Amino acid sequence: MPPGILHERVSSALTNWHLDVAEALLADLDAATAAEPPVSAGAPLSSLSRAWADTLRAELLVRRLRMAGLTLLGDPIDDTDAPVQAEPDDAAHVTEQPLGARSRTDDHAATAIALVRSARAAFDAADDDLQRAAGLARHAAIELLSRRVDAAMDEAVEAASLLDPALPASPLLVHTLGALSGVLADLELMPLALDYQRRAHHTALRLAEDDPGPAALALVGDSASRLAALCAEVGEGLLDDGSSDAADPHFAQARALALETLDGLPADDPHRPTAEVVLGAALVGLGEHDAAAQTLRRVVGVVPADQDRALLASAELALGRALRRQGDGPAADDHLAHALALSTEHGLPRLRRAALRELCTLHADLDDAARALPYLQAYLADELDRVDERRTRWVELFGRRKSLLETERAAGQLRRQAYEDPLTHLPNRRYAEGRLDGLLAAGAAPALAVVDIDHFKSINDAAGHPGGDAVLRAVAQLLVDGVRDTDEVCRWAGDEFVVLLPDTTAEQGERAMERIRSSIATNDWSALGVDVPVTISAGIASAARGDDRRTLFAAADGVLYDAKRSGRDRVVRLSGVTQTRADDTQPDAPRTAAPVFEGELLESDATPAGDGESPEDAVTVTGMDAQPVDPAPGRPTDILFGDHPRPVPTPRVDDDAAGGFGRLLVEPVPAPGGPRPQRGGRVVGPATDEAPAVEDPARVATTRAPLASSGPEVVRGTGRSTEQVLALVREARREHPERPAIVVGAAAETLVALAAEHDAYTTMDHVAMAAAVGPLPEVRGRVAVLCAGPADAAVAAEVAFVARVSGTEVVRADDVGGNRLQALLADGSVLAEADCVVVVAGLDAALATTVGGLTEAPVVAVPTSAGQAGGFGGIGALLTMLNSGTAGVVVSAIDNGYAAGVFAARIARR
Ligand code: GH3
Ligand code: MG
Repeated sequence: MPPGILHERVSSALTNWHLDVAEALLADLDAATAAEPPVSAGAPLSSLSRAWADTLRAELLVRRLRMAGLTLLGDPIDDTDAPVQAEPDDAAHVTEQPLGARSRTDDHAATAIALVRSARAAFDAADDDLQRAAGLARHAAIELLSRRVDAAMDEAVEAASLLDPALPASPLLVHTLGALSGVLADLELMPLALDYQRRAHHTALRLAEDDPGPAALALVGDSASRLAALCAEVGEGLLDDGSSDAADPHFAQARALALETLDGLPADDPHRPTAEVVLGAALVGLGEHDAAAQTLRRVVGVVPADQDRALLASAELALGRALRRQGDGPAADDHLAHALALSTEHGLPRLRRAALRELCTLHADLDDAARALPYLQAYLADELDRVDERRTRWVELFGRRKSLLETERAAGQLRRQAYEDPLTHLPNRRYAEGRLDGLLAAGAAPALAVVDIDHFKSINDAAGHPGGDAVLRAVAQLLVDGVRDTDEVCRWAGDEFVVLLPDTTAEQGERAMERIRSSIATNDWSALGVDVPVTISAGIASAARGDDRRTLFAAADGVLYDAKRSGRDRVVRLSGVTQTRADDTQPDAPRTAAPVFEGELLESDATPAGDGESPEDAVTVTGMDAQPVDPAPGRPTDILFGDHPRPVPTPRVDDDAAGGFGRLLVEPVPAPGGPRPQRGGRVVGPATDEAPAVEDPARVATTRAPLASSGPEVVRGTGRSTEQVLALVREARREHPERPAIVVGAAAETLVALAAEHDAYTTMDHVAMAAAVGPLPEVRGRVAVLCAGPADAAVAAEVAFVARVSGTEVVRADDVGGNRLQALLADGSVLAEADCVVVVAGLDAALATTVGGLTEAPVVAVPTSAGQAGGFGGIGALLTMLNSGTAGVVVSAIDNGYAAGVFAARIARR
């Protein structure tokens, strides 16, 4: 929960989808945030509260986008999100968002993304793990709202890794653990969600023990209700799986927690209904339906519909469940349908799925498979619910990533300790050495300044050791303030510092150090209680090609020595002439004695031992020898430009260079036996529709891999019993586990039975009376399916379904027959952006010809038999279509949505 009452109110308005209220509150919040003093002392707090404001604003935008049916990225949310697909109305009806609406929301989406990014950066920069975790948990919830499941998971994992068990109890910790638990539950990671909510509740209890004020007690009540609700939900899950023994303890715990909470609340407390709903849910689970229904009816009566819709939705769900189990079908139907509507409208995915499941069970129990189907379809279409397998991976990932992140964080702390000087918080000598090695190895030409405080011993003597320390810190700060952001100041040891200046000449470095020298000499040191002068001496050298770290250090240190000798409080650089003077004829005489650094240079613990250099070697290295001292193995040969050797990039000899690009140019080898004969999609001319015979195992066996195409297997339900269809699907799945088996023309019972057998793998369409079982291919290309009128809807639905499960995007335009075509043409994108257009028409069979004249895309015309007196079972439509004078139109068999769907998908996927 973000800091502050105002934040909390925005939060709660958002949760209840009172978006205009939230927007108004956010405006107040912005004003409040803007009024805070900028930067300086209050900086971390003010940037955090800005991050919270940005987060809430992003959530507002995401919720607005969701209301418009769009995800954060501006993609339409799967239309199966609607509880039951709306029947096409009279006007031409395009199921996709018109493109104009999409671009209007692009701004919203872009702003939301920008806000989330800047808020995340602010949270990341915060030094407070709990605040970061709180921000991340909230961001994960926003990602979930826009269905970005993987992103939500990543953020949840990161938040979890920050919530160290050793964190002190605080209300923010309780809120954050609870928020994370909510995200985990929405990700269907119920056991993890339960763990985190337990931790939240225990933290609240600890807080209340220390200080049993009303705020802490409210926190306890809230966390207990949430924990109880989760327990009941986990219990329901176990009941669904048939393990009622395992479910009972969860319901019992839920009941105990709810009763405990209710005991602690006065009769008029606004939090009572929440606890009562949980109590009701627990009682339903325990089989005490009468008591449950009584409690829940009361709550449904008192919760104002526009107030807490999530609460109302859970009450309706529990009440519907109680009534269903009591055998009161019609009443159960009402309450469950209300729960479904509320949860759909308010983006409560778990409640929605539970309501769908209940409704489906209710109608299946009533032997009304046809009514159960739409609910079943919506239930199965829910992305989260069908990813059982992925969910298992997430749980593993959660454990693994979490421990990885913890290890990384521990390593980060170690790194800090290893590379940071504790007195000045500057990087230390170990860092400086490594960094300089890195710069030199990368071919950069840094300048190096070695800085030593003059007569520091006497400063220590005059100001005492702590005073000396203060001077060291102040000098460190003045050094940092005086250099560019890309320069790095490190404490070398005692009163010595080094400054690394990447891509800087000695002259530029000298100017920078001279500025700093003067700022230190003129600084008012009396403020630190130091009344002796504080000055520095600095020696500067810049790297020439081939220098290694030791050479550069020795050179800079040598001139520092010169600075000290010539009177201190000065900056001396190694002259350019000296730097380039080195040549092979020069003796390797020590130009500088480097008395201060020589020992240290060679004892560096960051340097691998045994590099073959003795201290004498180091001292005798010519200050700026231009020759590579020790060319790295495998370095390319140098050639000389004047005095300076430069590397010549040699082509990398790649082990498999022989393969290289050449392999990509080789024509793909045709599969043995040549391309697989196309099956099931013959639509050219009046096609016969006999689909590939999964019924004939022998034929399936002979046409298995290697296949040039891997179209779906089809099982026709017409004339087959449910058992026969189930058996054929099993066989098809066994033969081709890598592709879906498609069932068309199935009875409602058959579809319900299929979903029961293959739940997580089933995709279905209740209008087409079709289902696909198995993994769907990756989506490529786009098919537009135009349906002339309501009588053609079932065939059009079959086309659309089959094309979709064959791996294409499908755009549908319904009811475009007769003079209603104009409305379709107004949105030119439907035809313009399709790779193949399918026109399904009976009475309006001429529509296919008209559309063929309007688009360059190939058109598949599907004649239908339904709804036409005198249509001769579709023969009339078939003849009209066959007689079309327009090129680019092919005609399918009568009512064969399957064949047209496969054919169109094949065209689009090319
Ligand atoms: P010079 O001008 O020749 O550099 O004279 P100097 O007195 O500064 O000589 P030197 O650099 O050799 O002296 C460094 C002194 O810094 C010695 C040591 O007592 C002191 N010193 C080293 N580390 C610390 C520290 O962490 N805190 C304090 N207060 N003093 C330190
Ligand atoms: Mg000194």
